[in-house]
Amino acid sequence: MSVNVEMVKCACADCVCVVSTASAVQAEGRFFCGDSCATHHEQSTGCDHAGCPCHG
Ligand SMILES: [Zn+2]
Ligand SMILES: [Zn+2]
Ligand SMILES: [Zn+2]
Repeated sequence: MSVNVEMVKCACADCVCVVSTASAVQAEGRFFCGDSCATHHEQSTGCDHAGCPCHG
């Protein structure tokens, strides 16, 4: 038996993070690394990952 963990890039265009589908935030059928990316940075906050340039 194997554990199948699929890794996908965050759907946010500027985000460089890669998340597993199991722990990703799902919105509109896409996977995001966190709430701020999933809400398209409506609060103008970054995704909290070091070295990631995304900020909405
Ligand atoms: Zn990021
Ligand atoms: Zn992201
Ligand atoms: Zn983002």
